[in-house]
Amino acid sequence: MTDAQLIDGKAFAAKLRERVSAEVAKLKARHGVTPGLAVVLVGEDPASQVYVRNKGEQTVECGMNSFEHKLPADTPEADVLALVERLNGDDSVHGILVQLPLPSHISEPKVINTINPAKDVDGFHVINSGLLATGQQAMVPCTPSGCMMLIHDVLGADLSGKRALVVGRSNIVGKPMAQLLLDANCTVTIAHSRTKDLPEECRRADILVAAVGRSEMIKGDWIKPGACVIDVGMNRVPAPERGEGKMRLTGDVDFASAKSVAGSITPVPGGVGPMTIAVLLTSAVIACCRILGLDEPD
Ligand code: NDP
Repeated sequence: MTDAQLIDGKAFAAKLRERVSAEVAKLKARHGVTPGLAVVLVGEDPASQVYVRNKGEQTVECGMNSFEHKLPADTPEADVLALVERLNGDDSVHGILVQLPLPSHISEPKVINTINPAKDVDGFHVINSGLLATGQQAMVPCTPSGCMMLIHDVLGADLSGKRALVVGRSNIVGKPMAQLLLDANCTVTIAHSRTKDLPEECRRADILVAAVGRSEMIKGDWIKPGACVIDVGMNRVPAPERGEGKMRLTGDVDFASAKSVAGSITPVPGGVGPMTIAVLLTSAVIACCRILGLDEPD
């Protein structure tokens, strides 16, 4: 069998950012508005620091205003909530993102649910989850939204009747992913750590989305021939072949065995990962347009 079509998330994300830049330029020229995205980082988690830096840089590259708020790890919860309230009331801020995880003394749901749902570019607020679950206009979590764009790009607009399996049921990836696939008329199954016979569930799926966090767990012989495989996993594993102490990034799918069975597949890195920030920028523009009552980009 020939190798699967490689789904190039990096190239797709670059095109998405170009579109965001064009929309931002239009908003400035026609309405004198510059979308603003505020990111709140509490603590010094190294991975979070990298994400926040990348988000800030890409926000500015697209012509938007970036507001970074870095707070020490021991910041009291009340101060974080007060900052979010301040950003809610700031007219130059159209999107607010609180980088997770938060230090353990701070309630993540409390902070997330303090964000004005209209500015909740991550789509994690309970109001946005509820709107998504009931098929209403919502701010949609960025990673699942990016996965849907890649799936449509490779399989076309109509996904009706396709069997989709989402492995993972987190609030930020698995559940919203399943919701979006359901909205696209797929027949959706959600698998998790208690699922019996996961390989057999996988073999039934025309669309397989892996969001587990276990390196290369899903093997090639679990995959239905020709399936579209979207690997959300980002696992850092030791890579002694690259030198002592070196790490490499792997997905939840065993790419080496899966690529000769799947019809199309996202690599890790270069698949879903680059999409998340590009979709975040898109969401910031959408939030800006909705807040100001302007036409949204297509
Ligand atoms: P969570 O840890 O919140 O959820 C993992 C899910 O996988 C849970 O629902 C869990 O089941 C399920 N699971 C764990 N072990 C198994 C197993 N052996 N068999 C079947 N299901 C299992 O992770 P996230 O959803 O936050 O993230 C998932 C992956 O996606 C991670 O690798 C993360 O790094 C990556 N990620 C990538 C992003 C990107 O931009 N590319 C963005 C966000 C996440 P149960 O509920 O029963 O415990």
